[in-house]
Amino acid sequence: MINGTLILAAGREKSVLNRHPWLFSGGIARVEGQPAPGDVVRVVDTRGRALALAYYNPHSQIRGRILTWNPDERIDDSFWLERIRRAIRGRERLKLTPHTTAYRLINAEADGLPGLVVDRYGEFLVLQSGTMGIEKRKAQLVRLLADELNPVGVVERSDMETRPHEGLSSQTGLLAGESPPPELLVSENGLSFGVNLLTGHKTGLYLDQRENRQRVCQPHFVAGQAVLNVFAYTGGFAVYAAAHEAGPIINIDSSFAMLEQAERNVERAASRPDDQYLAGDAFRILRDYRDEGRQFDLIILDPPKFAPSKGDVPKASRGYKDINWLALRLLRPGGLLATFSCSGHIGADLFQKIVFGAAVDARREVQILYPLGQPPDHPVLLTFPESAYLKGLFCRVW
Ligand code: SAH
Repeated sequence: MINGTLILAAGREKSVLNRHPWLFSGGIARVEGQPAPGDVVRVVDTRGRALALAYYNPHSQIRGRILTWNPDERIDDSFWLERIRRAIRGRERLKLTPHTTAYRLINAEADGLPGLVVDRYGEFLVLQSGTMGIEKRKAQLVRLLADELNPVGVVERSDMETRPHEGLSSQTGLLAGESPPPELLVSENGLSFGVNLLTGHKTGLYLDQRENRQRVCQPHFVAGQAVLNVFAYTGGFAVYAAAHEAGPIINIDSSFAMLEQAERNVERAASRPDDQYLAGDAFRILRDYRDEGRQFDLIILDPPKFAPSKGDVPKASRGYKDINWLALRLLRPGGLLATFSCSGHIGADLFQKIVFGAAVDARREVQILYPLGQPPDHPVLLTFPESAYLKGLFCRVW
């Protein structure tokens, strides 16, 4: 049902015609009718021409998120089901299973389902509802997903830092079926990971790093090499490195609990008596290593999002530069650096400039071997550049 009309400000139809799904408050001249938060509204230009249907949220700077550019479409069960099926079909064609049983099924706007993320972890689904529009339809979406995929359980992890911008508080817990075990085993490229779907970061694992872990930790890069895995979390990169006979791996993370899970994951891949798990601040530990003159062959830097909002970019840039500068100082000549940023507000160009600045200051020569990004289960929508957030550089350092 359509419950109102958003009339765009003059000249603001361009982004709609270019198929950008977000309608910012500043681009809307007025609202007609009395749509409730989450209701579907018609989007019209100043001449009253209908351009799209969106769901509405007066509490968010993003007042509307477009669901369809066909204003005559009905937003009913079959609309949602068709979008869900399209996303699932796209994943099936990636042929991830059986080697990989944890991956993103629905990537929100980039899959035509604004605000909805669904990750699959074996027999379980994890859902993130990012907006009022999805929140209102959560029961309907869970029903459709359950009918389509028959999961053992559906878990909610709507505890993202963006929820308050939508006027929503955090919600986590079981939505349908059975609870997952506290340590659910899933496979990634044939390697086994234990994951807690209720307490892990994001939906449990950093699924977006899957291909980068595989590429960086190939046997010819890691075998016998001294590895420093900074921001290790539950050992994503370390498991791959261990499986490919890396030399000693030092894992650093601020969370002791995550490092315990990392050790369990690594030990499942190989017996590793010489590896270390250090709980502490990465910046401080890397500074200590620099003072001690420690050297490594491969350093992985996969920090958390330093720039959650645009205003954080200057400070975040300094953080990225600092950590990269430290890592560059700790590499043997000919060593490898895999460095990442998952801050959407720091684009690939800016990130490369930051690493460039770090290299000049560290007086190291850096060759980019591979630019790194998101895997295809986290597709980037061409008309929605905001869906590209993860970038990395895999470098050789002299
Ligand atoms: N590389 C991991 C994901 C890293 S996520 C993987 O492949 O799975 C970022 C991690 O950085 C989180 O586990 C978080 O606990 C940790 N972290 C955040 N700030 C930190 C700091 N100052 N020092 C060390 N670790 C930190």
